[in-house]
Amino acid sequence: MAINRPKGTEDHLPAGSPKLTLDVSAQAHAHLVNTARTVLERAGAQRIDTPLFEEADLVKRGVGGSTDIVRKEMFTVYYFGDHGGYILRPEGTAGIVRAYLQNGLKQLPAPLKLWLHGPMFRAERQQRGRLRQFHQVDYEVLGSTDALVDAEAIALMVEVVKTLGLKQVRVKLGSIGDPQDREAYNQYLRDLFSPVRERLSGDSQDRLERNPMRILDSKSEGDQHVIAELSVKPMLAFLGEEARAHFGQVQKYLSDWDVEFDIDPSIVRGLDYYRRTAWELHHEGVGAKSALGGGGRYDGLAEQLGGAAVPGIGWAFGVERLLLAMEAEGVELPAPEGPLLYMAALDEENVPYAASLAMSARSVARAEFAYRAMKPASAFRDAERRGARLVALIGSNEVAQGGITLKNLVSGEQTLVETSDLVAFLAEHGKE
Ligand code: AMP
Repeated sequence: MAINRPKGTEDHLPAGSPKLTLDVSAQAHAHLVNTARTVLERAGAQRIDTPLFEEADLVKRGVGGSTDIVRKEMFTVYYFGDHGGYILRPEGTAGIVRAYLQNGLKQLPAPLKLWLHGPMFRAERQQRGRLRQFHQVDYEVLGSTDALVDAEAIALMVEVVKTLGLKQVRVKLGSIGDPQDREAYNQYLRDLFSPVRERLSGDSQDRLERNPMRILDSKSEGDQHVIAELSVKPMLAFLGEEARAHFGQVQKYLSDWDVEFDIDPSIVRGLDYYRRTAWELHHEGVGAKSALGGGGRYDGLAEQLGGAAVPGIGWAFGVERLLLAMEAEGVELPAPEGPLLYMAALDEENVPYAASLAMSARSVARAEFAYRAMKPASAFRDAERRGARLVALIGSNEVAQGGITLKNLVSGEQTLVETSDLVAFLAEHGKE
């Protein structure tokens, strides 16, 4: 029986594949990551890569023991003789902060802006836009509590999606205050939910002890029903003076820069280390429950991981979700470019010569060649299918004369070029 890819994973396919949609197109993935890189590196972010597997404890401490990610969705990595204490990373932030602490990145000028792209793993039930191996682009800033950093991070996230051509995106902005504000809120939630404990899902009963804010994030319909009935006050009502002032500054900067946002008091992102600014990016085409991405300030995380205190803020978006949103909006990708030159020999004995010319042309342009001799009509058809701009046919005459005729498939124009001038000619032509 044929072997299929594991559930919840996708192959990223080359252009022209029969089952191509944007979210499985390798070209679309590359376009998205390149766009994000351009936007983020112009803002001074530097690339970082961390391992795909990490100590399980990093994720338990870094993502939080009360989250679904840690409780149900971790892929454990086993190998011969190992203690089984590794997991495939479910998100990027914990690994980046670990790398920052472990490698002394504090020495670099602060605030340090980092970005990462790569696969993440969560053992979730597969649905549209919900995979077990998906990809994120992450942006993290370490070493500053300044509200200007928060506002810039949000603006950059919006800039990436706008540069991709998306229009129907909304930023939902909230604040989860400082630890003492959150503790007051958690106490309020404990008092509110305890009398109706029995009506909550098992998970939420557990959350009631560990981290009541996460009840508000519950995916269970029953829980959402209870939440609606109780008319729960939002976290925003519990912000202390400093957190409120910080939140006000973030909003002011965003308004000054014309970055649109809606205040959403329901944003909780209740991980233990989250602090102050928290937000999500939503898109109409992907559905209300499915965020394109989210972010938040996590000033407590480095200490949670056993390091020195380093404030931080970051966001991540799901590459596949963004591609679904682009598909929903009908955003077109730049057409894949064919080779500048397609080279075919008319006789078998000249195939290696045609190949050597094409290979030398690669120092300046994309050049391909036919692996067997072809009649002119087949060579032109093949060149067109591949999207080539110039075609050259090599016969004994061309070899003897040391020159080749290049036909431009777009204009129909023909040019005789000395073989020794081919590379220079292509270098010039490739700029058009
Ligand atoms: P989170 O780290 O949970 O805040 O997720 C950030 C973003 O990653 C989400 O908004 C989604 O776009 C994406 N994402 C999270 N989980 C998945 C998944 N299982 N499949 C696809 N994308 C995901």
